[in-house]
Amino acid sequence: MRLIRSRILHWPIDQWHQPEYFEDGILLIEAGRVLDLGPAERFIAEGLDVTRCEHYPTRLVLPGFIDPHLHFPQVDVMASFGAQLLDWLNDYTFPAEARYSDPVFAAAAAESFLDLQLRHGTTSAFAFCTSHRHSVEALFCAAERRQLRMVAGKVLMDQNAPDAILDTAESGAQDSEDLIRTWHGRGRLGYALTPRFSGTSSSAQLQKTGLLAQQYPSVWLQTHLSENLAEIAWIKSVHPQYQDYLQTYEAHGLVPKGALFGHCIHLTESETERLADAGGVAVFCPSSNLFLGSGLMPFEALQAAGVDLAIASDIGGGTSLSMLKTLADAYKVCQLRQYVLHPFEAFYRITRGNARATALEGFIGDFRVGQEADFVMIDPERVPLVARRVQSAKDLQGELFIYMTLGDEQLIVETSILGEPAYRASAS
Ligand SMILES: [Zn+2]
Repeated sequence: MRLIRSRILHWPIDQWHQPEYFEDGILLIEAGRVLDLGPAERFIAEGLDVTRCEHYPTRLVLPGFIDPHLHFPQVDVMASFGAQLLDWLNDYTFPAEARYSDPVFAAAAAESFLDLQLRHGTTSAFAFCTSHRHSVEALFCAAERRQLRMVAGKVLMDQNAPDAILDTAESGAQDSEDLIRTWHGRGRLGYALTPRFSGTSSSAQLQKTGLLAQQYPSVWLQTHLSENLAEIAWIKSVHPQYQDYLQTYEAHGLVPKGALFGHCIHLTESETERLADAGGVAVFCPSSNLFLGSGLMPFEALQAAGVDLAIASDIGGGTSLSMLKTLADAYKVCQLRQYVLHPFEAFYRITRGNARATALEGFIGDFRVGQEADFVMIDPERVPLVARRVQSAKDLQGELFIYMTLGDEQLIVETSILGEPAYRASAS
């Protein structure tokens, strides 16, 4: 049993403008799950011995952050200079991913990556690995040891990249199926079919992937869509038989409900409508989109058109593992699209909203009784500028906006998995 008395914020219903906030709350955790949550005065009236609580009156406890699109092997290409998407892939990303042909390297990289994530307050993620099967095994082994709720997949790519990172339609499908059978639903782990994007997959590979999606309907599907104008033109030349980018997926059964499409910046009206009708999720990756000069995702317009949305870091195109910094970029991109991203919506998105968009809201993303108790603690005192600025915050929304605009991983003092600390900042 763990009892945390602090300021506590979450979204018990799926509405960003209706958070539940306790200025002096108590979170009770037993066997890794939320046993109860409420105002401290209620627990005191019920006779709880509050001396048993860990008491953090100035901190803010939130559900653990969920990052629904990232590439774990790309940590080593973050902040690579001077390229847009296609050159960035060829010059930096593909050579870096080739190193994962070494299982020892992949295992060490997976451990280090998850430690970094926890330090940034991210407790769950949807990860692209490399085309090497053991890159997925390495990440799952490391995640299982840490008891993380983690979804990952072997990248499928059988053309238009260096040989060292290519599979074939047959080997890609076989490896994916083996990985599904071994890992999907094991503990807190889940599998995502992961065609990198239709530029690096033949029609035969896309076809086989669509069959697997049909055969294993509880498995996720993640890929990229409409990121960069040169990419869209190139896709047209690789798959000239299709009317647009989305159709390269539709034609192979790769737009099941809940499929996660990174970027969706330059969708046509028809693609937007079809994506909404199919129940696909557009994953907004603002840091990456700004860094690679890909464009300004029309977040609000997609929402208005009925497309489900999520917000992600997309490292290594993104420049931080911090979901707080991701929100700062999201706010700025939305400003340029004449939409004001409210701080309640922003924090809802990286917790309950991303859980809902990825069909994990029955497990994580909020503190309803019975939910898995993954959480983060923010301490404004860790960053002098934030500590000073937050003193003049008028209300909770003002405070959250300061965290997302001025904050980063330095604000995170604890990240807990199933109620147990997995990361604790050293005392300063
Ligand atoms: Zn990506």
